[in-house]
Amino acid sequence: MDMQTIPAREGNHNLKNYEEIRNNFSWEEVEKNFSWYQTGKVNMAYEAIDKHADNPDKKDKVALLYSDPDREEKITFDELRLQSNQFANVLKKYDVQKGDRVFLFMPRSPEFYQAFFGILKIGAIAGPLFEAFMEQAVGDRLENSEARVLITTPDLLYRIPQDRLPDLEKIVVVGEHEEQGGQYIDFHFEMKHASSDFDIEWMDREDGMLLHYTSGSTGKPKGILHVHNAMIQHYITGEWVLDLKEDDIYWCTADPGWVTGTSYGIFAPWLHGITNVIRGGRFSPDDWYKTLQDNKVTVWYTAPTALRMLVSHGEEKVREYDLSSLRHILSVGEPLNPEVITWGLKAFDLRIHDTWWMTETGAQVIVNIPALEIRPGSMGKPIPGIEASIVDNEGNEIPPNQMGNLAIKSGWPSMMRAVWNNKGKYDSYFINGWYVSGDSAYRDEDGYFWFQGRLDDVINTAGERVGPFEVESKLIEHEAVAEAGVIGKPDPKRGEIIKAFITLNPGYENSEELLESIRQFVKQELSAHAAPREMEVKDSIPKTRSGKIMRRLLKSWELGLPTGDTSTLEE
Ligand code: ATP
Ligand code: MG
Repeated sequence: MDMQTIPAREGNHNLKNYEEIRNNFSWEEVEKNFSWYQTGKVNMAYEAIDKHADNPDKKDKVALLYSDPDREEKITFDELRLQSNQFANVLKKYDVQKGDRVFLFMPRSPEFYQAFFGILKIGAIAGPLFEAFMEQAVGDRLENSEARVLITTPDLLYRIPQDRLPDLEKIVVVGEHEEQGGQYIDFHFEMKHASSDFDIEWMDREDGMLLHYTSGSTGKPKGILHVHNAMIQHYITGEWVLDLKEDDIYWCTADPGWVTGTSYGIFAPWLHGITNVIRGGRFSPDDWYKTLQDNKVTVWYTAPTALRMLVSHGEEKVREYDLSSLRHILSVGEPLNPEVITWGLKAFDLRIHDTWWMTETGAQVIVNIPALEIRPGSMGKPIPGIEASIVDNEGNEIPPNQMGNLAIKSGWPSMMRAVWNNKGKYDSYFINGWYVSGDSAYRDEDGYFWFQGRLDDVINTAGERVGPFEVESKLIEHEAVAEAGVIGKPDPKRGEIIKAFITLNPGYENSEELLESIRQFVKQELSAHAAPREMEVKDSIPKTRSGKIMRRLLKSWELGLPTGDTSTLEE
């Protein structure tokens, strides 16, 4: 194991004394920041937007710094308060009730955020869907959630299978369109005529707020329900992990169709009243760097797939931009390869902080923070207030340095409260008081957690258990390899053999010699049993819309098996 470490950051950051805070922590202290501590009632929209708009020092601060190739807009907390009030009034006019599901199927835009907070203000449950979903994916989610209202754009209307959706009463259309009246509501027309006064619906902390479908990396996506109470954890991780401070300019690159795009693209920054950069449209490395530069972004939350793309475009590209404002970088969604961290130190002169969590956990749980040393390849340590461990299949904790199920002691604030319409699935996550994540990992003697792979992805070869992540990380350290997806392929002699699918960096040609040199590289640097016996060069590696490698798809292609649910596959 690579035990090179990167020292903690010195100086001014929010969570200074990890051990001390961890030992004396109570969630109740964090609750004191929110209205229910006085009134017993709460609403995420109030805490994230209206509270700042009510503050004379903050109301004119820019909340949303929006840009896409055709549009640029700055929206203050006060403006967002009024606009979301208007949309809440539109929903009220059409009789939307507390607890109803209102879905958003549209690209990131100012209207998305106006509508999103309008939904929360009326006490409905928001369900964001990624704009790239096709008819089947959209239909399945609206059907499963029994959504009453959908907000979308004219060019996406054709992907809504209305015949299948008896519960869907209204479709709010953002933009010019032919369909008028009946089921259709014109967003801009209604907004123009709606009052900007609205009495917010005060919620219980356990009331539903958000319904998110998982990424679909391992199978059919699950509808995960979150409640207003989750704000406690969004807030405190915003402080400790994102390290947010009053004057930060924050950019989270995730689409709100995924949990990162809501928990950390909406809630955490706005609970802290931070200026939030939202960038629509597609990305190239130049767009990424330009967005960082032009907005003077200070804190940047992104994903390994994006970072690997930047690595493959080289350090020189970074030098073309002025990124001097940037002070803190974080990553989520997939394991963060040590190679990427090493590159980040050179290219940005900053550490990249991995964070592990999932749709079901609602917020970050295992993290790297400025105050801790980073062990490249490790996800870090649990945040104060979270107990994490490695357990066997019966839910018994197992000793350090042994691979097992990554589990969290149930009952943290942002934990899912239901799998929509599927109690059996929900119950199946819990064993012996532990929430069992479905990821495999081990913990070292110092309490750092090391991700190994999805449980289903761990490879059994000649009696050894090998995590695909380790092999993939070594593969991309080879100069020719851009990305890698590793699977176990059934083999009569060895149980499974390791097969690697790779993409090549610009300037490299596929050849037997090259593949053999890559194999030798892994053999020498990692181990003989971890070196792929088979390798295949591909133009791209299949990924979900949230940027995760879909190993199960590589495997079913390889074995000629049915591909299962591919609704979240990126083209
Ligand atoms: P599905 O549950 O539908 O198969 P999914 O698990 O990919 O899809 P998400 O909830 O979006 O859906 O992703 C959570 C998963 O992402 C985790 O279980 C883990 O496998 C992976 N993940 C997230 N962050 C990290 C990280 N920092 N390191 C390693 N893996 C991570
Ligand atoms: Mg999952």
